[in-house]
Amino acid sequence: MKKLSRKVELMKQIYNEVLHLTASPLYAERMKNNAQPVIGEGSLDAQIMFVGEAPGKNEATTGRPFCGMSGKVLDQLLAHINLSRDSVYVTNIVKDRPTDNRDPKPSEIELYGPFLDRQIDIIQPRVIATLGRFSMEYVMNRLGLGESIEAISNMHGRVFKAKVGFGQVTIVPLYHPAVAVYNRKKLPELKKDFEVLKTFL
Ligand code: URA
Repeated sequence: MKKLSRKVELMKQIYNEVLHLTASPLYAERMKNNAQPVIGEGSLDAQIMFVGEAPGKNEATTGRPFCGMSGKVLDQLLAHINLSRDSVYVTNIVKDRPTDNRDPKPSEIELYGPFLDRQIDIIQPRVIATLGRFSMEYVMNRLGLGESIEAISNMHGRVFKAKVGFGQVTIVPLYHPAVAVYNRKKLPELKKDFEVLKTFL
């Protein structure tokens, strides 16, 4: 286990690298809009790490992940299992806002993915909860579980295990909270899926 001070230092390095990531096509957009990269937030010693897709408008304005409508749903889901934001770590695969909230492109996932890999290695969580299909696919492929990937409608709330450099990690694919922003009736199903995480607390 890395010391907290070392984790803080390693996260700062990631922040600085992303801040100056001129190789990203999203960098020019960020500068034009006077926006911010969104690296992640929460405990660097978290047992559970949540991985979303990419920042939206609110996130790119504040530099904080999940602080808009989807964030409100995420907060409700966390509260449902008595977890606070401070006790978990929340991040995204892509650290800059894709223009007009479109889906992240494969090239963007490829460019920003290695920063997420490093964050996983810094935090060394017991559980990675992926939010939505993009992060499910990225994380599962990255951790050697590519062959288990099915449509998210078949995957949500299930539990997968992978061996990584720092030990064993559990992957729980979850629906993206935005699902309940667009369809409130989905909230009970999302809450039920979150209950799986309680087993690991
Ligand atoms: N959607 C995401 O995937 N991430 C955020 O940070 C906000 C909305």
